[in-house]
This record gives sequence, structure tokens and C-alpha cells, in this order.
Amino acid sequence: MTGFAARTFGCLLPAVLTLLVAAAGWSGEAAVKPNKKILYFTKSCGFEHSPVKRTDDQPAYSEKILVELGKKASYEIVCSKDGTLLNPDKIGQWDGFVFYATGDLTKPSKSDPAPPMTPEGKKALLDAIAGGKGFVGIHAADDAFHTGTDKVDPFIQMLGGELIRHGPQQKAWMRVADSKFPGMESVQDFELLDEWYSPKNLAVDMHVILIQDTKGMTGWPYARPNYPATWARMEGKGRVFYTSMGHREDVWDNPLFQKILMGGIAWSVSDAQAEVSANIKEVTPGAFTMPVPDEKATEKPAKKAARQAKKRVEKPAKPAK
Ligand SMILES: [Zn+2]
Repeated sequence: MTGFAARTFGCLLPAVLTLLVAAAGWSGEAAVKPNKKILYFTKSCGFEHSPVKRTDDQPAYSEKILVELGKKASYEIVCSKDGTLLNPDKIGQWDGFVFYATGDLTKPSKSDPAPPMTPEGKKALLDAIAGGKGFVGIHAADDAFHTGTDKVDPFIQMLGGELIRHGPQQKAWMRVADSKFPGMESVQDFELLDEWYSPKNLAVDMHVILIQDTKGMTGWPYARPNYPATWARMEGKGRVFYTSMGHREDVWDNPLFQKILMGGIAWSVSDAQAEVSANIKEVTPGAFTMPVPDEKATEKPAKKAARQAKKRVEKPAKPAK
């Protein structure tokens, strides 16, 4: 096993059990045979979040949870930071993709030695989605291939939104826009402590599932009308789902988050059906009104101290008489 393969975690158990079932000569469908093979890609070429951080080569917090949830749903979830698994010669093995990844994923990562995606792999991914494979973005996925300019990356166009900034972690309300979407059954408006992303470049054709209620939220990124926080859209024949939740490890423990995430995954790989016509203008009519940045209000203490020190140098105090 190579070092990179060793860092790829997955659920081998169903394959072993399937072999045992075959050896025993049981007939019929083997219940343990994975229905779908899904890549959980957690490379951090930007900020590395704690739920995707591996310590001592052990699976990350979210990887352990998603593999277990996958087993219950009959999915083989393969966790990896190896970008070459998306290369044209390897893309065909996946039924769907789940991304919790940041930065330009075609560049080397400081947080792991696994190879980055190749430009051909990035194209293969986008082509595979347009051709009908499922894609799920979690939390920081809209900070991948983040341009920071008006030139919107094709990855962001596929996903349907791009991070502007987030404010301090806080409790905020998620308002339900579609209670019929898979995983949303019996879900009502809820309040959750997490780090909330404020997005731009929102796809006009998206189907909003959960709305960020910005009333009372702290930080300039939320000084805007309510906006989509969890959504679904079609990219060609492919089903794309995104949720902004999932910064905190305790959110990953939350059964409500797990239910919504697994509903999105099931829909993305066509194991569940939903009506996903565009509703962004109806349920979040102010979504395209952007917040006005107030960088001073959200800068880190060290940066603030440096700025103030610079200001003191530029404007020396009047000498004492
Ligand atoms: Zn975060």
C-alpha cells in the first residue's frame, strides 16, 4: 500500500461480507452490498477545519461519522485527500462526490502530502457531474476554487454559491423553505450554534431548502436580507446539493444535521426524488443584496494591533510642550 492509499479510508466491511454471502451460497440480494460508491474528499488547500483534520494518520472526525452513516444507507464512503482519484482514468468508479475542501485544490496542500487535483481531474469532475453523477458540498466547499473576484470559477458555478466571509460562531435560525426534500421530513425551523457562511454568486436556478435568518445575527457578513443556506440544483443531468452547516464537530454529532446531510446525499445519487425547481427569488427575495464589508469589525486581534501600531507611526502624537 502506498502512503497515499494508506491515507484513504473507506468501508471495506460490506465487500468482505458480500464475499462471505457469496461463499455461503445464499441467494437473492445481499443486503450488505453497498448500493453506491461515494468519494468523501477533504483536502484543505486553504483553511483546514477540525472535522476534516487527521491526527496520527487516523480518520478525521467527520470521516468516521460519514463512513458510519454511509454504512446504514448502504453506501461505501471512501475518504481521501488524494486529488488524483478524480483523474479521468479514475473518475468512473464513483457514483457521487462529497466535498469538504478549501482553496485551489489543484495546488499542493500544506496540511497533507497527498497529491492535489490535476486540471484534467477538475474538468473530469465537472464533466462527470454534468453527465449525471451526484455532488454534495459541505460547509467550506464554497470556499474551494474561491476567486475573490467577479470571475466566477466553473466549480463555484456548479455549486451555486461562493463564500464572502463568515462572522463569529453564533446561534442562528434556519428557516425551512422545503419540508418535502429528502431528509427534511418533519424538520421545522431550528436554531443551531455553528459558523455561518455568507455567500455571493448565488445560482438563480437554485432550489432553496433552508434559509439563513439574518435578523439579530452578529457581524457584517449577515447585514443583509435572508439568504439560502442549504440548497439543491441541477447541473446538466447531475444533482448538486450544498449545506453551509458543519463547521463544528458537535454539529456533526447532531442527528438533525446528519439527517439533512444524508437526505442530500441520497438525492444527489438518485436514491431519493425531489422537486427542485428554482425558488430563490420567491423564498429569499433579498438574497442578491450583498453585505457591505467592514473589515475592521472582523479582523483578528493581532491584525488589529498591527494596524493600530501602523496608524500611530503614520500619525505621531503631538510632542509635549
Ligand atoms: Zn468553518
